[in-house]
Amino acid sequence: MAFKRVTLFRFFGFKVKADASWFFLAILISWTMSEKIYPHILAGQGQDTYQFMGILTVVGILFSIIMHEVAHAVIAEYFQMPISSITLFIFGGVAEMEGEPSNPRGEFFMAVAGPIMSALMGLFFWADANLYAEYIRPGVLPCVLKSLGNLNMMVAVFNIVPAFPLDGGRALRAIIWHYKNNLVTATRIASDCGAFFAYGLFGYACYELTVRDDTIAGIWWGLLGFFVHASGASAVRQMETRSLLGTEPVSRFMHNQVVTVSPDLLVADLVDHYINKHYQRIFPVIDNGALVGIVSLSSILSLDRHKWNWLHVASVMEPLTRSIVVKPESNAADALDIMQRKGRELLLVAEGGKFLGVITFRDLASFLTITIKIDHNKPVEKGRTAY
Ligand SMILES: [Zn+2]
Repeated sequence: MAFKRVTLFRFFGFKVKADASWFFLAILISWTMSEKIYPHILAGQGQDTYQFMGILTVVGILFSIIMHEVAHAVIAEYFQMPISSITLFIFGGVAEMEGEPSNPRGEFFMAVAGPIMSALMGLFFWADANLYAEYIRPGVLPCVLKSLGNLNMMVAVFNIVPAFPLDGGRALRAIIWHYKNNLVTATRIASDCGAFFAYGLFGYACYELTVRDDTIAGIWWGLLGFFVHASGASAVRQMETRSLLGTEPVSRFMHNQVVTVSPDLLVADLVDHYINKHYQRIFPVIDNGALVGIVSLSSILSLDRHKWNWLHVASVMEPLTRSIVVKPESNAADALDIMQRKGRELLLVAEGGKFLGVITFRDLASFLTITIKIDHNKPVEKGRTAY
């Protein structure tokens, strides 16, 4: 889902971002709870109270989802699988890992940590609801706490279904991976289970739409089925790509015929003497033999044209980060992964600060297309593990 993401805050050292779709979900949950659910389970309250309960529930759910993802992230870090950020999107959260899981044990424990945390949160909210109702007073707050307990339990149960890419499916993939010693096969089997589950969800959506005539529920179940189906399929594609690229190093695909520029160059000169001459859209910036950044046509076009005459490349370039530079001996599959995640068309190849060349998305894509064509009549798997 390509919605815009905004960083909300940091929690346990992880950056928590929200996909724009999450705001839609927040409004829908708040509305559903205050209009449809709470008036039934706690009758006799004013409209304001129900709205307040709806908002409180959304805050509680936000907290619960973050705790679920933090549980994944903490266990991932424990197994040396760095988590770059936690993103909240329409169906909950995603703890984004930099790269793929390194071993089945790590993936298994990382996967089950989330549902376990949700179940614990469920028990915690239920206990709070009972204690509050018993020792302070029953009513609004225990009712919200009880609902949050129920919702956490639902999240735990839903996620433990062995359908990839849900947590239970990831755990299943880790178990198959452990026994078959092949991540591609494991991903394919787990995502087949996921597809089977997705069809079940579609079926249930049709039942809600036709027999029960509940459009909202039908749309929700249908969307959920679509999500499980689409993300399972894309994970399999990604895994097959990895198996085709295997252990090829970045240097195999590297170009070194790249025009570089100096940080002191005027933007106007960059346009006249470099972009218009070499038709290159991205230039590495080299200062005294050391790679210092990257300057792109799109960043120049976003400037006011009159600034071109007095701004230098140094002030418009993008400084070096881990997501722009790779080493020549790095795995090409990892490089492709970074390009896809960060939406980059190329990465710079450098060693010890010295610029060596670039690796482009286009070259990797055409390599894959050709390899797939050549391998067309052979089985896709070649018994090699890319990890
Ligand atoms: Zn999870």
